[in-house]
Amino acid sequence: MQPRIVVLGGGFGGLFTALYLAGSGEITLVSDEDHFLFTPMLYEYLSGEVEAWHIAPRYDELLEGSVRFVRGRIAGIDLAAQSVSLENSNEKLNYDVLVIGLGGVTNYVGVDGAKEYSLPFRKLDHADNLRRRMVTALDRIAPDLAPQDVRREVTFAIVGGGASGCELSTKMADLLYDAFKRRSLHGEPRVLVIEMGDKVIPGMGDQIREIVEDSLHKSRVEVHTETRVVKVTSDEITFEHEGRQENLKDAGVVWTGGVKMSPLIEQLDVEKNRRGLLVVKPTLQLSQHLNIFALGDIAFYPDASPTLAGTAQLAYQQASLAARNIKAFNEGKELHTKHFEELGEAMSLGTERAAVLTGGKAFGGALARQARFALYTSRLPTWHHRLRVGASWFFEGTAPRPLLPLGFER
Ligand SMILES: Cc1cc2nc3c(=O)[nH]c(=O)nc-3n(C[C@H](O)[C@H](O)[C@H](O)COP(=O)(O)OP(=O)(O)OC[C@H]3O[C@@H](n4cnc5c(N)ncnc54)[C@H](O)[C@@H]3O)c2cc1C
Repeated sequence: MQPRIVVLGGGFGGLFTALYLAGSGEITLVSDEDHFLFTPMLYEYLSGEVEAWHIAPRYDELLEGSVRFVRGRIAGIDLAAQSVSLENSNEKLNYDVLVIGLGGVTNYVGVDGAKEYSLPFRKLDHADNLRRRMVTALDRIAPDLAPQDVRREVTFAIVGGGASGCELSTKMADLLYDAFKRRSLHGEPRVLVIEMGDKVIPGMGDQIREIVEDSLHKSRVEVHTETRVVKVTSDEITFEHEGRQENLKDAGVVWTGGVKMSPLIEQLDVEKNRRGLLVVKPTLQLSQHLNIFALGDIAFYPDASPTLAGTAQLAYQQASLAARNIKAFNEGKELHTKHFEELGEAMSLGTERAAVLTGGKAFGGALARQARFALYTSRLPTWHHRLRVGASWFFEGTAPRPLLPLGFER
């Protein structure tokens, strides 16, 4: 009898575990999307520097029949019965070994109107919606509108000055300025980053921050630190700085301000830390359920550098340990542990620049952008996909796609 291994979530943790396990049991991967998403390049998808097939390959292409793929939204995990139920389906997935890699969801931290009116940025659809919102704002500008009115009509606020907020805001600003030039519009767009802390990318070092701040400046992004968002409506954002509140009309608010646990994890009656993360043993097993492995954004792994928490690079590294340990578990062998290290940082900063931190040294500019593309080619799943994407980027280029009027957008 082959052990039944069910992997929940097809992100960095789940997909890579399933790929490493292929051929070592009856493996089922469950995800609510039909594709993997290489999130670090979602900004390039927004700008058209990369296409959906580059960064969001379909599971059926990646798994090539070696792992069964079930598309569905997981409704619950029954620990006692060792089964998983799906929304709108009577099928129960029974497991001998379970892998939980369900990732996080956007955390609006209870800000009034934030969930209803701001745009999340975690999926392909989110990037499509944001691009459409930018195009619509540009399309609304009448040729004779005064520059100050133009600026108000094309104001976008990005909440959160972490890596995501900085990467997104520089990308949006470059795209919008380029569109102003192409469409010969008067005035300029306005892109703001709103950050509660006293500096951008708070968890990162000063070397890379210097490059990021320089890029924000070059892309003409306004940075508001020590500023808290208190309310979002359909066309206005309210924020507070040094006790003073200000309302700003906007064309869109994008929320990159935080991540929280998937509701499915909240429901599980197992050991969690204060943030609600599943506490895993150094082998990635849950201590009360040794046949359950958890990894990625939903797991608290004590032996990893704290700066790695909530990153793709941690989930990706954990996947190989999970797969190795699941094989050992099924064969009754001793399980392994691993200390996870920083693999370096790479950030996209606008359509022409990036920042890369490797071996303790940071560098920026167009060279860093090339290095980032090269680095990420090597991190994509499967050799076959890497080769196709690498060839496409090399031969067809990675130029951004301008924001064209809605009827001309593809
Ligand atoms: C825009 C963006 C940019 C990022 N950039 C970087 C970066 O540059 N470097 C870095 O290290 N990290 C980056 N991250 C963080 C990184 O994406 C996460 O840390 C990583 O994806 C975590 O992997 P995971 O497997 O835990 O979860 P995920 O990759 O989020 O995968 C979770 C999977 O579970 C599925 N799922 C969730 N709920 C259900 C359900 N109920 N039913 C069925 N399926 C479900 C999801 O569809 C998804 O396939 C970025 C994140 C975002 C959003």
